[in-house]
Amino acid sequence: MHNRVLVTGGAGYIGSHTTVELINAGYEVIVVDNLSNSDRGALEGVRQITGVEPKFIEADCCDRDAMRRVFEEYEFDSVIHFAAYKAVGESVAEPAKYYRNNILSFVTILELMCEFGRKNILFSSSATVYGDADVLPVTELTPRKPATSPYGNTKQMAEDILRDMVAANEHLSGIALRYFNPIGAHPSALIGELPRGVPNNLVPYITQTAAGIRECLSIFGDDYDTPDGSCLRDYIDVVDLAKAHVVAIQRLVDGRNKHRYEIFNVGTGRPVSVFELVRGFEEANSLKLNYKVAPRRAGDVMAVWADTRLANEELGWRAERELYDTLRAAWEWEKHLRQ
Ligand code: NAD
Ligand code: UDP
Repeated sequence: MHNRVLVTGGAGYIGSHTTVELINAGYEVIVVDNLSNSDRGALEGVRQITGVEPKFIEADCCDRDAMRRVFEEYEFDSVIHFAAYKAVGESVAEPAKYYRNNILSFVTILELMCEFGRKNILFSSSATVYGDADVLPVTELTPRKPATSPYGNTKQMAEDILRDMVAANEHLSGIALRYFNPIGAHPSALIGELPRGVPNNLVPYITQTAAGIRECLSIFGDDYDTPDGSCLRDYIDVVDLAKAHVVAIQRLVDGRNKHRYEIFNVGTGRPVSVFELVRGFEEANSLKLNYKVAPRRAGDVMAVWADTRLANEELGWRAERELYDTLRAAWEWEKHLRQ
C-alpha cells in the first residue's frame, strides 16, 4: 500500500500536524500512540481539520507483540517514527527511561519492518545532534558533537541505528529529518502543543505568560557573543515542518532518494534571537509580555541555525510561513486551550 503510512506518536505535537498534511496529500494514516504525552483530542482536531478520522491504535511501540499485531493487520510501505520522550532535563534525571523508550521503540519498529518487508522509514532527529557547532550555519555534513544529555544521545544513537539497519537490509530506505526549533500551531487552532507542567521551551512559556499562567518569562542570558546578547535559534513553523515529512515520504515512495540513508536539516535558515522572538510575539499579537533577564541556562548553546540547501534542492521543500503568522497561531492555540 503505497499511500498508507504508519505514524507512531501521531497524537503528539508534530505527529498530529504531520497527520493532517499527509491526509491533505492523499495518504491514508494509521496512528499508533500510547498517549503518554498526548490525548485523543488531537485526533479529533485532525478529523475536524481534514474531515477524515485517522485509524487510531492505542499501543506502546516498545510492546513487540502489540506492534506485531499492527504489522500483521495492516499493509503499509512507510512508517514515520515520532514516538519518543523529549524532555531534556528529565532525561538527565532519568536516563534509563529515555534510553528504554526512545531506543527500544525504534529498534522494535525497525525489526518489524525488516520482518514484514516494509520499505520506508522516516525518523525524527534533532538539531541537538550538532551541539555547540564550530561553524554556522550547520550543514548535514557538520560533525556531530558529543551529546550533552541522554535525550540528545538517543537521537544520535537512533540515527546510527537507522544507518546500520539500512546498510544491513537491502529493501530498507531511511531518512532522518533533523528538526530545528518547532514552534506554533495549526492556523485553525484545533491542534497544537500540549506542554505538561511548567514548559521548558521558549514559545509555550511565552504563551503561558501572556495568558497569565506564568508570572514572568525569564530570558536566559543577555551576555552571549551575539548581536543582542541573547541566544540564536532557527524557529520552524510546525506546519512547514509537517509538510517536510510529506515530501520526504513521497521521495521514498517514488524511489527518488539518492542514497538508502539520507539526512536533511529542517529549519528556516534564519537565526532569530530570544529578544527578537519576544518582540515578534508582542507585535504580532498586539500585547505586552512580562519578562526579565535571568542567568544563562546550563547546557544551552549560544547559537545554532540550519543550512537548508539540501532540503531545498533535494526535497523541493522550504519553510514558507512568516514568523509573525507562526507567533499569532501559537497565541490562538494558547487561547483555545484556555476556553
Ligand atoms: P510529543 O510528545 O508531542 O509527541 C510524541 C508522541 O509520542 C506523544 O503523543 C506520545 O504520547 C507518544 N509516545 C511516546 N512514547 C511512545 C511509545 N513508546 N509508544 C507509543 N507512543 C509513544 O513530541 P513532539 O514534539 O511531537 O516530538 C515528536 C518527535 O520529534 C520526538 O521524537 C521528538 O524527540 C522529536 N523532536 C521534537 C522537537 C521539539 O522541539 N518538539 C525537536 C526535535 C525533535
Ligand atoms: N529560553 C529562554 N527562556 C525560557 C525558555 C527558553 O530564554 O523560558 C531560551 C533558551 O535559552 C534558548 C531558546 O530560548 O536560547 C530556545 O530554547 P528552547 O528550550 O525552546 O529550545 P532549545 O533550543 O533549547 O532546544
